Amino acid sequence: MKQEFQLHEVYLSSLLHDIGEFYKRAALEDDKNKVYNTFKEKLPAQDINSPGHREWGAYFCKNTSLDKKDVIAQRILEHHNPVSLVGKIIKIADILSSGKDREQKDKIIDYRNIESVLSLVDIGKKTNKKYKALGKASVYKGLLDSEQPNIKKEYKILWDEFYETIKNEKDDERIYYILKEYTQNIRKDFDNTSDISLFSHLNTTAAIAVCIYRQYEEEIKKGEFEKIEALLDKLEGGKSPEDEIFCLLKGDISGIQGFIYNVDMDGALKALKGRSFYVAYILEIIARYIIKNEGLTLSNLLYCGGGHSYILLPAKSIDNLPKYQRFVDEVLYKAHSLDVAVLLAAERFDAGIFTNNNFSEIFDKVGKMLAQGKNRKNKSIMSHDMFKPRWLAERICPYCNRKMDSDKCSFCSSFESLGDNLIKHRYISFEDVINEKRQIKNVFDIFESFGFRIRFSDEPNLKSYSISKEEFDFKKSMYYIKTANHLHKNGNGVVSLDDISKISDGIKRWGILRGDVDNLGKIFHSGLKENKSIARVSTLSNELDMFFGNFLEGFIRDEFKECDVIYSGGDDFFIIGPWSKLPYLAEEINKRLCEYAGGNPNITVSMAIEIAPDIKFPIYRVAEVAGENLDRAKDCKRGNYEKNAISLMGQAVGWEEYDTHKLIKEILVGLINDKVTRNIFNVLYSIFEQNQRAKDNNEIFRTWRLVYYIAKLKERYSKNKSEIDKLINLILKNHNELYSKLESATIWADLETRC
Ligand SMILES: [Zn+2]
Repeated sequence: MKQEFQLHEVYLSSLLHDIGEFYKRAALEDDKNKVYNTFKEKLPAQDINSPGHREWGAYFCKNTSLDKKDVIAQRILEHHNPVSLVGKIIKIADILSSGKDREQKDKIIDYRNIESVLSLVDIGKKTNKKYKALGKASVYKGLLDSEQPNIKKEYKILWDEFYETIKNEKDDERIYYILKEYTQNIRKDFDNTSDISLFSHLNTTAAIAVCIYRQYEEEIKKGEFEKIEALLDKLEGGKSPEDEIFCLLKGDISGIQGFIYNVDMDGALKALKGRSFYVAYILEIIARYIIKNEGLTLSNLLYCGGGHSYILLPAKSIDNLPKYQRFVDEVLYKAHSLDVAVLLAAERFDAGIFTNNNFSEIFDKVGKMLAQGKNRKNKSIMSHDMFKPRWLAERICPYCNRKMDSDKCSFCSSFESLGDNLIKHRYISFEDVINEKRQIKNVFDIFESFGFRIRFSDEPNLKSYSISKEEFDFKKSMYYIKTANHLHKNGNGVVSLDDISKISDGIKRWGILRGDVDNLGKIFHSGLKENKSIARVSTLSNELDMFFGNFLEGFIRDEFKECDVIYSGGDDFFIIGPWSKLPYLAEEINKRLCEYAGGNPNITVSMAIEIAPDIKFPIYRVAEVAGENLDRAKDCKRGNYEKNAISLMGQAVGWEEYDTHKLIKEILVGLINDKVTRNIFNVLYSIFEQNQRAKDNNEIFRTWRLVYYIAKLKERYSKNKSEIDKLINLILKNHNELYSKLESATIWADLETRC
């Protein structure tokens, strides 16, 4: 018990060790005097910089409701010159999080904005530094060209709200989320690490401190602190320590495409919602299961999104990896046979990885280990069951191969019910249960196998997650869910695919828009140049996740409410909507991401749109084609450009040519609406084909037919002459070069004008 109590002390002291950086920037003279008077015996006389961030932090702590708040205040106070063991652990973790031992000076004027790390990512193209406005993480205020002139006032407003929110808290998890919300847009300090957020620094320091504590737990119990003290000596002496204290565990989910989209068209949207929520959360639940078993904290889950999770563990935990993998395999095999798998890989590493500022290297390493293990899919259960027919009964569910007792498969229906609950309720929570599930009959059993029971409610609950992000409030819930949840609704509930199709212009169909960030691996591997400290890598992943996990859904809800966000998080998204809205939504997502990254040309996104050939066409088939088209958009090389494209009507269009493309479509639509003959489409299709044939046969493309047709068209529709001229100028360059994406633009206009 005493040990657990000490873990709480290690965790909270490290999580709050630099909170004084925030407080002192917001401080009024009044508070400054109080802080000064509280600690005046310990402060150097006549030091104009005192009190410093440690005193501010300790003073804050004393005025909260934390358990052991006086001890924690003491640890914060001593974190640069530690006396106690916990103080030493925090100092080590502080240095490792930053990648170096820095003399943190308490300067007088230090009201500055944090730089946007996304605007500074450099994988070969010139960047342009932008700043983030001070404020809460979930409120996007746009980037700034220069720092806010009245930032001191802003600090005060933000601090007051933060303090009101946190002062009566006792729960570690809630404190974690409050810090995440209030310290993510704050600059850590004022040396050269100007784009690292205070939250990333606090959070990674806490994760590291907890690992050190657990790794040396046995020694600590016996009162042997030599290893920890020697480590601190090395770090203070600027040496790169080789103590193998940590391991990074990566989890990867596979088989999800087939699983999510292979649903019965009856109630398809609810089922998709439930399944994509499940897929987004199963990795987090497994991560939390491991964290719970290893006695770690939420801070140790460094990242979870886009089908990957990363946990920072003490090195000794690697011995338990086979046990965890076996258990995960067993549960998922019972649930999905071999269709869905979660693979885990871990690598031990020494503290020097942190001080060499190369945390990305260890990310790469576990990534490669997982890639090699991919073929191994469920190896630990390969030996049995595999070749036996699973069910001998006659009625088998076509989606999950389970025996069906009635017309509906109860396992598959449970995902629909999960989706339905997410639509109907306001809060969801994951309650701890003892995991003794032997059988898996539904999705809820899967969560319970890992020790978490899902509960839905409409009543506020401080340990729950708000399903709607716009309603999120710390007084009513702990945080909001990490997946997008917007579905188009009307008075009768969720609008069906039939009705979504009816909203489209022209041909009545639904479509799929999906996309993800280009060069993600490269961005993390080399985009941060020489400073790849854990805190900086983590700031970058938080930034991306905030866009896809929160802001994207926000503007879709406001401006494209007819579209359903099936999935959005990490670095990718999947949206279903009336097909004709999707290109405009795609354009908006591209524009917003570009803005969010401060116009950084190194951050780009590729997308694909695919239209359902028929309203009743299976979603998974359309999703599959959209996936293939997305790959094609990524493969799209043109001059100096690469990726950064959208696949539209089967052709990849670079974002740099999208405006022209759209203009051609709009002119064509305008002409048709003005009663110009639809035969223009047939002519354009056939011209495009002739051009392709000429290219294939190395012949010169003869433009006379097009020129002749256009001349006739202008004669016949003289009032549209100028629009027709504009069109021909766009599709025919230098008299004989046909616009290479003409087919796509023509199909777009054709479909949009069909009744
Ligand atoms: Zn089924």
